[in-house]
Amino acid sequence: MRITRIQIETLVVKIAQTRELEASCDECAQWAAHLAEVLAQSSIQDRQMLAILQHLDECIPCAQEFQVLCACERMDREQNWPSFEEMWKLVCDNE
Ligand SMILES: [Zn+2]
Repeated sequence: MRITRIQIETLVVKIAQTRELEASCDECAQWAAHLAEVLAQSSIQDRQMLAILQHLDECIPCAQEFQVLCACERMDREQNWPSFEEMWKLVCDNE
């Protein structure tokens, strides 16, 4: 899924309206892929992304998933995919 600028802005407006900077596990899962991209590219400016980061700081299951996701993002960018065994090991190490 490609996340558009509009989607991010819609979320930011929604959060501003509720005046809460909080993310749930569902939101975290939904945005983690985008966050991995953002983190790889530059600094974070979106409030929603900061909320997700905050959630990752507090929620261990999501943080572990995000670690794997970041590794995948990096491998994808470097076109350097590990073998199935290496990938399996990466996932199991996080258990
Ligand atoms: Zn979580």
